[in-house]
Amino acid sequence: MSLLLFGAPGVGKGTQAKLLSSKLKIPHISTGDILRQAVKDKTQLGKKAEEIMNRGDLVPDNIMIGIIHERLSREDCKNGFILDGFPRTVKQAEELDMLLNEMKIKNLKLINIFVDEELIVERLSNRRACRSCGKIFALKDIDGLKKCPNCSAENSFYLRDDDKEDVIRKRLKVFRQNTEPVFEYYRKQGKTISVNGIGSVEEVNSSILKILNS
Ligand SMILES: [Zn+2]
Repeated sequence: MSLLLFGAPGVGKGTQAKLLSSKLKIPHISTGDILRQAVKDKTQLGKKAEEIMNRGDLVPDNIMIGIIHERLSREDCKNGFILDGFPRTVKQAEELDMLLNEMKIKNLKLINIFVDEELIVERLSNRRACRSCGKIFALKDIDGLKKCPNCSAENSFYLRDDDKEDVIRKRLKVFRQNTEPVFEYYRKQGKTISVNGIGSVEEVNSSILKILNS
């Protein structure tokens, strides 16, 4: 099963990807992670990417596609994979299509997790992180607590910059402008599955599995 995980920031994509990976027994490939790994391993593409990032530029699509190619060629991807974080533009989607054609990978599905934008803003701005251990909590779960339930640090909760309302709205706008056309691109090919992202992690996960198995 070849899956692309798709959704606005804050819909819980990463959590779903990990859960699907363990249930379907196919690797979760986060493009951010494989890029960091390639840089760490000093592969040819990793070295190139590092050079470009050190200049403060974005890693170009052809290098990213190359790194994805290397990762998808590994043994553990022979029964499928879950790609997370790519493609983010229509151009990247076209390049990924070419790569998958070349690798004879068929039956690609894009899983779109959708949540109303106002709910995303509410959900994220009602989170607090622990300054000491980094764990993230829903405000309602730490109401009145002085100590972090995870590491016992005192008065360590704070609102991360990423969880501030204006930052969230800006990221959602970027998502709408650049990434939503990617959904349209796959929808026209009949490759999309849409799942409502409201509900518990398990609820959302079982609706995804239900559609995939139907
Ligand atoms: Zn803590």
